[in-house]
Amino acid sequence: MSTKPVIAIDGPAASGKGTLARRVAQAMGYALLDTGALYRAVGLSMIRAGQDVRDVEAAMAAAQALDADRIAELTADPALRQDETAQAASIVSAYPGVRQALLEFQRGFAANPPGGAAGAVLDGRDIGTVICPNAPVKLFITASVEVRAERRFRELGGDTAGVDFAAVLADMRARDERDTTRAFAPLVPAEDAVVLDNSELGPDAAFQAAMDVIRAKL
Ligand code: C5P
Repeated sequence: MSTKPVIAIDGPAASGKGTLARRVAQAMGYALLDTGALYRAVGLSMIRAGQDVRDVEAAMAAAQALDADRIAELTADPALRQDETAQAASIVSAYPGVRQALLEFQRGFAANPPGGAAGAVLDGRDIGTVICPNAPVKLFITASVEVRAERRFRELGGDTAGVDFAAVLADMRARDERDTTRAFAPLVPAEDAVVLDNSELGPDAAFQAAMDVIRAKL
């Protein structure tokens, strides 16, 4: 396990955990790993190869084939952020073989943060429960599904871009359902996580609250 401090930031889609993780990593001078991007990279590499994401064996092979170069290539692809990729990620991430294939990469990052950084921030769904259960700081960032769908709706361009709010909300619920009910590493707060509901908080207030927890724990 890591001798450098790890800050685990978990939570559902569009909870604001990605923005928060970036700000925390910058403030602390820690390296940041967006673990959702790894599952998206598996989904995207399968889409690009014309494979069916319901093919468990193919998904496992796609996850095992990811090395640092391939991850860098896929995470730089603008399609990584598309909803189709998110849905694919949420399907392949339920397969134990896919999660296992990505486990060592995540633990390695936490133990040896790149660039000799003094610590690591990992954001995802199971960082505090599975990947880094000994992390000294665990935050679980959440917000109501309506607030999260509204944020995603605005990110996608809203009414002017012809985005259908009802469809965004339905996708968000479908992803929540898959992430929280899967048998392996479901999305749940670790017992020792501090839960921050940012439905009513702006990004600055969420950041201040997170930094208060970090200062108290480290
Ligand atoms: O966070 P992001 O929306 O990029 O994650 C995409 C999908 O990857 C999630 O819906 C989830 O199913 C999966 N994921 C996961 N475990 C993580 C990070 C993401 O299962 N640590």
